Order: sequence, then C-alpha cells, then structure tokens
Amino acid sequence: MRKRKRCPPIPKSLDLPGGPVPVEVVSRKKMQEWADKGEELFGYFHEAERRISILGTMSTSAQWRTLWHEWAHALFQDTGLSNGMNLATEESLCDAISSGLMRVWHG
Ligand SMILES: [Zn+2]
Repeated sequence: MRKRKRCPPIPKSLDLPGGPVPVEVVSRKKMQEWADKGEELFGYFHEAERRISILGTMSTSAQWRTLWHEWAHALFQDTGLSNGMNLATEESLCDAISSGLMRVWHG
C-alpha cells in the first residue's frame, strides 16, 4: 500500500525560471479582495508582482495542491507558454501539473 507522505509547511518562496516567487498564506477575507464577483478563490498568482497568495484556512495538503497550481501559472508566464493558450486550457494544464506534483511529492 502506498504510504501518504506528510506535507511540509508552505514555503516562503518557490524558484522558477524567471527567479524566485514569494508565497504568502492569507485569510479568506484577504483572498476575496482579488476574486471576481461570485468567485471563490483558493489561490492567486499576481502576474505583475510575481507573487503567489494561498488561502490559509485549507488543510496543508490542499494548500500545496493550490500552490502547485499557481506555480504552474507562474511557470507558463516565465516560459511564454501562457501567451498562446486560452484561459480554460491553461487552468486545465495547471490542474494536471498540480495533480502530478502532488502525487510525486506528497503521496
Ligand atoms: Zn488557475
């Protein structure tokens, strides 16, 4: 049987091709400041500032899943891939990458 690994704490930053991206864990109230009307955000990649915000009220495992998703958005921006993708495709790819990384790193 596959043993589930413990998730380490959310790091203060993650390295990407374009340099380190700071990561902050925020409250639900703070996160909703960046949401569109009627949208519930679990994570957010601030493109211009190159910063990731993660909702702190989720389990550490859910925070990691969200962090890898936002990391993928940052990766696509750094590598220019997001220029040629529509939003739905990008979201699907970010989810796929997040699922893959969760399996490898977090069991
Ligand atoms: Zn996304």
